Amino acid sequence: MSGLDSYKRIDVRYLHRRKYLQSGYYFSLSWNCGGEPSGDIRVAVGDDCLTLIYRFRDYSEEWQDVRERVYLDWTRCNYGGKRPWFKCPGCRQRVGILAAASRLFLCRHCYRLKYSSQLETDLERAQRKRDKLRERLGEKEWLKPKGMHQKTFDRLRARLIEAEMRADEIWCMDASAWLGRLKRR
Ligand SMILES: [Zn+2]
Repeated sequence: MSGLDSYKRIDVRYLHRRKYLQSGYYFSLSWNCGGEPSGDIRVAVGDDCLTLIYRFRDYSEEWQDVRERVYLDWTRCNYGGKRPWFKCPGCRQRVGILAAASRLFLCRHCYRLKYSSQLETDLERAQRKRDKLRERLGEKEWLKPKGMHQKTFDRLRARLIEAEMRADEIWCMDASAWLGRLKRR
């Protein structure tokens, strides 16, 4: 496996902000590493899913064509509007960022990507908070548990989404230093 700085990553909010997540869209993304192009992919947008199209080669192997399907999930924001998430093709968790540390684009949990030590404490705190909220809401976090007040449910849901975003952002900040910037072609 190559160094951390050659990972390619995709941020779903970046795509959303640029209004790329519209069914029927087709675009390219490319990455740079130390000023040199380090790879590119094509992306086809379907109904709530993306198809990532690219070529991958392991050491001493032939190039393979890869088509990876990534589903999207949407949650409502506190301040109105919706925000998108990737459903990681590896673990089905809702995540904001996918990275290609090997053949497929997967989340940091699947690749066990490391963050720098100064951010680890922050990240752990955000993750602990998120896990506690998930515990209270149960496995189907979008359904109100029996006996829970609607207001309590709404508040916990909003806090959960915030904690998920925070956990993503911490990783994102750290990752941007070594994953390179996602660029529009
Ligand atoms: Zn995953």
